[in-house]
Amino acid sequence: GKSRLTLLGLGAMGTALARTWLAAGHPLTVWNRTAGRAEPLAAEGATVAGTVAEAVAASDLVVVCLLDDASVGEALADADLRGKDLVNLTTGTPAQARARAGWAEERGARFLDGGIMAVPPMIGVPETGGYVFYSGSRALFDAHHSALAVPAGTAYVGADPGFAALHDVALLSAMTGMFAGLSHAFALIRKEDVAPGDLAPLLVNWLTAMAPSAYELADQLQSGDYAKGVVSNLAMMVEGNSTMLRTAEDQGVGAELLAPFMALMERRLADGRGDEGTAGVVDLLTR
Ligand code: NDP
Repeated sequence: GKSRLTLLGLGAMGTALARTWLAAGHPLTVWNRTAGRAEPLAAEGATVAGTVAEAVAASDLVVVCLLDDASVGEALADADLRGKDLVNLTTGTPAQARARAGWAEERGARFLDGGIMAVPPMIGVPETGGYVFYSGSRALFDAHHSALAVPAGTAYVGADPGFAALHDVALLSAMTGMFAGLSHAFALIRKEDVAPGDLAPLLVNWLTAMAPSAYELADQLQSGDYAKGVVSNLAMMVEGNSTMLRTAEDQGVGAELLAPFMALMERRLADGRGDEGTAGVVDLLTR
C-alpha cells in the first residue's frame, strides 16, 4: 500500500495538500492548532491527532505547513523527532531553513525544506504546472519521493537546506517586480478611454515575449561580459526611461515604482557602461 504520513497544519495550503494524499490513498494523520479545521478531513478518511506528539508518533514522514518559521518552532518544541523524516513546507528565509535544519538534526531527524511554487487551487492539479522546490537531505527526498510528488511536481535544488527558500524567494521577488510594473501600466490608462480588460492581453503577450531576457542576463552574468549580445543598450534605455517618466507625469501617475530601478540604470550609465544592458544593476545591488 501507499506510505503513511503525518501533516501538521491545516490552513488553506495544508488542507489542499491533505486532500491530495487522501485521494491518492496515503494513510494520513493530521493535526491543527484549531482542532475544528480537521473535521472535514476526518470525514474524508484522515486520522485526526489531538496533540502534536500523537501526530508525530504516527508516521516516519512528518510534513509541516504552518504560517511561518516561528510557528514551526512553537508547534514542534516538545516533539520527539528521533528517527523522523521532517519535511518543512512552511515559507521562510534561507537562513531560517538552515537554522531549522540544524535544529531538526540535533533532535535526531533528517530534514528537507520545501518552497511551494503554487497556490492552493493548483495543488493536485498537475496541468497548472505547480511544483515545490526541495533542498536538504537527498536521502529523505529519495526515500519519500512518491508521497512528495502527489500534491505537486518536485524540484530538488541541493543539499544546502537554504536553497529551496533561496529559489522560492528569488522567483517571488521577480514576480513582485512584475506586479509593480503591472500596477504602473494600469495606472497610466486609468483616466483614459482604455479598458483594463483590453490592456490585459497586450500586457501578457509583451511580458511573455520579454521574459526570456532572463537567459540573456544569465549569460552576461556568467561570462562577465555585460555587453554580450546586447540589442537594447543602456544609453538607449535611459533615454527611454525619460519618456516613461514624462508620460507618468503627464498622466498624473506617481513614478515611485519605476524610479529606483531607473536610478540604478543611470548610475551604471554614469560609470561609462552605456554599451551594456541592465546586468550591471546586479553589481550595484550586491553589497
Ligand atoms: P493559513 O493562514 O491558511 O494557515 C496557517 C496555518 O498555520 C494554520 O493551520 C494555523 O493554525 C497555523 N498556525 C499559525 N500559527 C501557529 C502556531 N503558532 N502554532 C501552530 N500552528 C500555527 O496559511 P496557508 O495554509 O495558506 O500557508 C501555510 C504555509 O504555506 C505558509 O508558510 C505559506 O507561506 C505557504 N504557502 C502558501 C501559499 C498560498 O497561496 N496559500 C502559497 C505558497 C506557500 P490555526 O488554524 O490554528 O490558525
